[in-house]
Amino acid sequence: MLKNKQNFRCSFCGRDKAETLLLIAGIDGHICETCVEQAVTIVDEELYQGKRNKKSKKDSAKASSTFKFPKNLTPKALKDHLDKYVIGQDEAKKFLSVAVYNHYKRLNQKSSDVEIEKSNILFVGNTGTGKTLMAKTIAKMLNVPFAIVDATVFTQAGYVGEDVESMLSRLLQVCEYDTGAAARGIVYIDEIDKIARKSDNPSITRDVSGEGVQQAMLKMLEGTEVNVPPQGGRKHPEQKMLKVNTENILFICGGAFAGIEKHIGRRINTQVIGFKDQKNTVDVDKENLLQYISHQDLKSYGLIPELVGRLPVLTYLEPLDLNALKLIMTEPKNSLVKQYEKLFEIEGIKLTFEDAALDFIAEKAFEYKLGARGLRSICEAIMTDAMFELPSQKDVKEFKVTKEYVEKELSHSRVTQQLRAA
Ligand code: ADP
Repeated sequence: MLKNKQNFRCSFCGRDKAETLLLIAGIDGHICETCVEQAVTIVDEELYQGKRNKKSKKDSAKASSTFKFPKNLTPKALKDHLDKYVIGQDEAKKFLSVAVYNHYKRLNQKSSDVEIEKSNILFVGNTGTGKTLMAKTIAKMLNVPFAIVDATVFTQAGYVGEDVESMLSRLLQVCEYDTGAAARGIVYIDEIDKIARKSDNPSITRDVSGEGVQQAMLKMLEGTEVNVPPQGGRKHPEQKMLKVNTENILFICGGAFAGIEKHIGRRINTQVIGFKDQKNTVDVDKENLLQYISHQDLKSYGLIPELVGRLPVLTYLEPLDLNALKLIMTEPKNSLVKQYEKLFEIEGIKLTFEDAALDFIAEKAFEYKLGARGLRSICEAIMTDAMFELPSQKDVKEFKVTKEYVEKELSHSRVTQQLRAA
């Protein structure tokens, strides 16, 4: 036993009392604050972490065993479902349907010697063309947890901003922290183009929200066990983490990739020159170069090759023309027109839209180049007066939205300036 005060030492690490902040005395020895902390971690890992992992594994196993591949599900059925909500974008719908179908086939695969790889997807298309809508619609159909995250909030570890892992926090939040359910969810990462490398030489400037984030995303996209901070944000040492396995999470990325046409054009040009003598030269539609997008263009735009490689399914969304915008207002199951009709029906009023009025609204939305995003704001501006007045006019049983009415309402609304500024 230690009798002399000078000789007091930690019985675990041997440090002298003078080197410690705190030395706790026991019956037959001492322990310093560092060893106490380590001991707490060991106890947590041995007694509790094991239980947590077992639960998470059990949840994952339960999730994949209880995940019922919807009956009669085929890529065609998936596309038919998308058709009910999304106008046009046939090619993107086909790619998405096949990728999702294969993904869930993979999820239900019993162990076999051929391992089906993940088919994460990348949508390239202007804003408001339906990228998020497609991902959302498919997730709803499959009844799996779905989260939308914005790539611009993430930064490399150690800098201000959110850790990449926190994108799984959103997924956990929507399924009430059921790690098993989260493990077969879908994450839509918006604005992936914003984390493109800013310059060709990464050493010139620190690129904490560009290449660093791309690097951090790699493992997660491929499939690994990730420690997720349940509340999102930055990870910190004292925080309790939840383990989520991303092997069966489908990642869908979307971005407008403004200016990528330049890269596509350059590549096509060199190819055309290179293959000049070949008979089957292709007519290039210069107005819509996005349709020729390839993985190579994404690399020249600033996505690192490893990330591009983990997004094998690449498809593009067409810009919406006048006709598509008009159809978006009327055709989808929950179209704007159907929503307004329902709102008025509840008031006992039959609402109708004149065809010319719909044309006019579509033209306005087209003018502001915000895709279908502009439609809602324009319609709200047009309908607000009617929605304000009519409920107190009990004798009105019908209301028709004419082109003249639309023009009048828009002329005294601020929406046009707001949309122009957007
Ligand atoms: P983004 O391509 O920027 O992700 P969104 O999918 O968020 O665009 O679209 C914004 C809104 O516009 C959606 O809520 C949806 O109502 C409408 N929309 C966009 N594209 C389409 C489309 N192709 N078919 C039906 N609605 C669409």
